[in-house]
Amino acid sequence: MTNKEYSNIVIPEISKDWTYYENKYPERNLEKCAMVTRFAPSPTGFVHMGSLYTSFSDLQMAKQTNGVAYLRIEDTDGKRTVENGVEGIINDFKSLNITWDEGPTQGGAYGPYIQSERMDIYKAFAKKLIEEEKAYPCFMTEDEINQVRTMQEVGKLRIGIYGTYSKYRNLGKEEAIAKIKADTPYIIRFKSNGNFENKIILDDLIKGKIEMPENDQDIVIIKSDGLPTYHFAHVVDDHLMRTTHVIRGDEWVSSYPIHDELFKSLGFKLPYFAHIAPITIKEGEAIRKLSKRKDKEAAISYYSQKGIPADVIKLYLATVNNSGFEDWYTRNPNLTIDDYTFEFSKMPIGGSLFDIEKLNSISRIYFSSLTAAKIYDGLKEYTETYDKEFNEIVKREKEYTTNVLNIERNIAKPRKDISSYSDIKDLNWYMFDELFFEKEKNYEFQKINDKNEIANIIKEYFNSYFDLNDDKDTWFNKVKLLCDKLGYASNMKEFKQNPDIFKGNVSDIATVIRVSLTTKSQTPDLYEIMQVMGMDRINKRIDYLNNNR
Ligand code: GLU
Repeated sequence: MTNKEYSNIVIPEISKDWTYYENKYPERNLEKCAMVTRFAPSPTGFVHMGSLYTSFSDLQMAKQTNGVAYLRIEDTDGKRTVENGVEGIINDFKSLNITWDEGPTQGGAYGPYIQSERMDIYKAFAKKLIEEEKAYPCFMTEDEINQVRTMQEVGKLRIGIYGTYSKYRNLGKEEAIAKIKADTPYIIRFKSNGNFENKIILDDLIKGKIEMPENDQDIVIIKSDGLPTYHFAHVVDDHLMRTTHVIRGDEWVSSYPIHDELFKSLGFKLPYFAHIAPITIKEGEAIRKLSKRKDKEAAISYYSQKGIPADVIKLYLATVNNSGFEDWYTRNPNLTIDDYTFEFSKMPIGGSLFDIEKLNSISRIYFSSLTAAKIYDGLKEYTETYDKEFNEIVKREKEYTTNVLNIERNIAKPRKDISSYSDIKDLNWYMFDELFFEKEKNYEFQKINDKNEIANIIKEYFNSYFDLNDDKDTWFNKVKLLCDKLGYASNMKEFKQNPDIFKGNVSDIATVIRVSLTTKSQTPDLYEIMQVMGMDRINKRIDYLNNNR
């Protein structure tokens, strides 16, 4: 019996052989340095900060070299697959405005991009290996495998099915066929030629050269359910999809010898490898990987709920990803991530601590660079989903809301208090009648706290000094005139020299006006606030104060 006939018995019922797929998926026609990268998540529910970090590199590297970045769903491990996991991943990317050049939704010439739809392909290549006597059916039962393991543990030996532990490695074809005919369950194992005493070198693009022992394990390539293992599917897919750069988490470094041998045994050219160190978090004294189960900040939905824009997350990831980025961005705030050249050599070798404060501060800078109109659009979209009440107001009062957002924006140092869309209501509620009058208020009066004195200041000011048409200087001069009239120092220098002869100073008076209108002792520029509020809203707030305090 020829090896080909034998392979047809071990893996029956597929019509195409591996040469068909080799021809179907030819080398890509791209520029010489173009990178083909892939993001290959298991459908475990949703994209999280850690996986997003990896996909960020995939996307940037492909984009900046005019290459291709594609999405491949690795759903061959039933234990790691959750219901709607694929939709979860696709929706998360959508919410971040991330699009892949190829993938399950958009298709592409190298698909299907969901591994469970590629069964015949894996089988065709497993057959190739069987034909070349580089793979074989293994009939070991679970019990037998457990016994081997126990024995190895007791004897302090390396664990696994290799060398003499590989019971069916040298089984004759006829005996194997007899077992198959008798319906004995089996899986397909790779027949390793490696020697654990020999060394191979992984020339990792991020971590540099790493010396490791050769693989000698007869790893499973096709499981009893007919699905490939990660190792086998990775090698077959990255070859056929013509991936040039495998960028993946560094938990895979230790499996590299397996992949190295598989690529070579299948006659495939090895891609480049870049193993990314994880994003980590501090838990007490210990540092561990950011976990999507334990850390709420790991979920992408956490940021959409808070209203932190996708661009901010990307800026944060860029900052973690390449050591020079933050400095470059600070010097070139008008440029975008796509103008920066990311390099593997500038990526961190060890884990990077997740820093939510840094992310928030990047977000504040980002918001400060936006126009009020742009923030308005984002706020409208955000509140549509997360704050229906505010959304009604924002939609009804488009111009006013934009003006509110414009306060302290068109100046040399624009305001930096907004770090997310959810901050906007908390920071500006007092500007909106609907929110102002319905909210429980705590007037933060400071030095001048006496009810009658406050009432007097307010009455004098609005009756005789305030004019909405004044420019800022005139407006401020009038506040000073009011000070002079009421016995407060309009000149700070004079006040400092003789504090006792004054009831207080101009800043105390301004605070009274500020608190009366906003309840807050700290706000953006009072002149701008009053200009935007307009007479009607100002009057309502003053009346309210007079009647309720
Ligand atoms: N499916 C693997 C995982 O989720 C992907 C590893 C890789 O990128 O090759 O860990």
